[in-house]
Amino acid sequence: MGNASSIEPTKTVFLDIDGKKEKIMFSRHCGSRDIHDLIAHAAGVSRYAEISLRDSTGAFVSLNPTMPINTQSSPYKVTSKEPSPTTGDGEVFTQVLSQVASQFNKVFKVEEMKTDIATRLSALERKMELEGLKAVEIEKCKRDISDIKDQIWNAQKKFVDFNRLSRDTHIMNRKQTLSTYRKYTLSQETIEYLKQPTFDIWHWEPNEMLSLLEHMFHELGLVAEFNINPITLKRFFLCVQENYRNNPFHNFRHCFCVTQMMYGMIHLCHLWEVMTREDLGILMTACVCHDLDHPGYNNTYQINARTELAIRYNDISPLENHHCAVAFKILSNPECNIFANVDKDTFKRIRAGITMLILATDMARHGEIMDNFKMKLEPEFDYKNKDSLDTLKMVLIKCCDISNEVRPMEVSEPWVDCLLEEYFNQSDREKMEGLPVAPFMDRDKVTKPTAQIGFIKFVLIPMFETVAKLFPVIDSTMVEPLRIARDRYEDMKEKNSMPPPPSQNNKKKTVTEK
Ligand code: 5GP
Ligand code: MN
Repeated sequence: MGNASSIEPTKTVFLDIDGKKEKIMFSRHCGSRDIHDLIAHAAGVSRYAEISLRDSTGAFVSLNPTMPINTQSSPYKVTSKEPSPTTGDGEVFTQVLSQVASQFNKVFKVEEMKTDIATRLSALERKMELEGLKAVEIEKCKRDISDIKDQIWNAQKKFVDFNRLSRDTHIMNRKQTLSTYRKYTLSQETIEYLKQPTFDIWHWEPNEMLSLLEHMFHELGLVAEFNINPITLKRFFLCVQENYRNNPFHNFRHCFCVTQMMYGMIHLCHLWEVMTREDLGILMTACVCHDLDHPGYNNTYQINARTELAIRYNDISPLENHHCAVAFKILSNPECNIFANVDKDTFKRIRAGITMLILATDMARHGEIMDNFKMKLEPEFDYKNKDSLDTLKMVLIKCCDISNEVRPMEVSEPWVDCLLEEYFNQSDREKMEGLPVAPFMDRDKVTKPTAQIGFIKFVLIPMFETVAKLFPVIDSTMVEPLRIARDRYEDMKEKNSMPPPPSQNNKKKTVTEK
């Protein structure tokens, strides 16, 4: 890490592809896979091709964001090899899926229906515009509109069912993908670094994150505690990963971040001294599962738009209830059930514990949970009391869930962009659908510093300071970085509100004009 990389966030590398000179540029935050895909694109081969690079001495160069840069006169020689047809199970599967999707489109005439609906709606609009529409015509229009709504609803339902079908098929197909999920050897340095809140979570591609998660479960003694079959553990993580969507913020990397921060807090606070391995397993598994199948639109949207989730859960934490239900759906599959070897009573306790923790991540309950925790701290926290320990665990998962700003600036800042992208996406949709828009999500009202200052000052610092009363190490390792982040965003806000200094060009122009 260092100053050089923050001044120059992109790297340029020169390539020689069969005599053709190419250059690629990538961010230090990207993964090895991104670089691989970039080179594959430049070389005109598929992303499944094997790619190797050699420098001018013939030595192989590893493909990762820390790879040494070169010059235009000494490009890396690229060789590529497409995989044999039998190894591309994933690709074949994707192709089959897309063919099924296109067949599906044909069968249900989705495209034709869309055009038909658009034509009928504009005809209706034109009719409505005409003055003196008779009562009988109004009734006819209403019937037409309700007919169109039914058609849209039915088509959506068919799509949802189709998506479910393809997802279930994907889950069933897990065994094939497991064989392509390579085992990474983690260096001793990575193993130690993984325990720190300063860990750079952007450096790792999805398969590497899976290996790191596996490592955490082994290292904490959870595999031994629950007698987990190591292959079941792999399948569980793979299935979890497949059930996170590609949202800008609520994606698998966010799941990884939250779990890694919990792992960091367990080590910083020596949590094994105050709670059981079972408790640690509940904390870690709840983190892994806490945002499963997040659709990218928050509870307020779910409730206002009266979505299926809001209806199913009666507007009570619809998302968190869903994340939890998906988690136990995954665990209901024996092949993925990491708790398959525990007795019934233990499973009941684990299920109650994970459910309680995932439901506690609804920020609508923040005040209630914090008030409860503060009461348990007085006069002295009692680790033997189940209620107290449950509240502590809830506060711990809450801390990890919203802990991005605890991380170093280079790591935390991209997350703000991701969060704002998801917020703006929601508020744009709310505007389109005529639903209420929260000011903190509105692209016309919010900026990076304004989004962060209030959140750090009034949510993060008070919460982490409260936890620091129980674990003093939190003050220097987590509260202090938050104070630094707050000051930095306050500076940024001040700079944003200052009038821009006269630029060099303007000055020159003034001189010439004189
Ligand atoms: P979630 O369970 O949805 O991941 O986290 C809870 C919520 O806290 C997020 O949806 C988001 O609204 C809020 N949150 C988490 N991190 C940040 C942050 O860094 N800045 C702001 N402004 N809000 C955050
Ligand atoms: Mn979350």
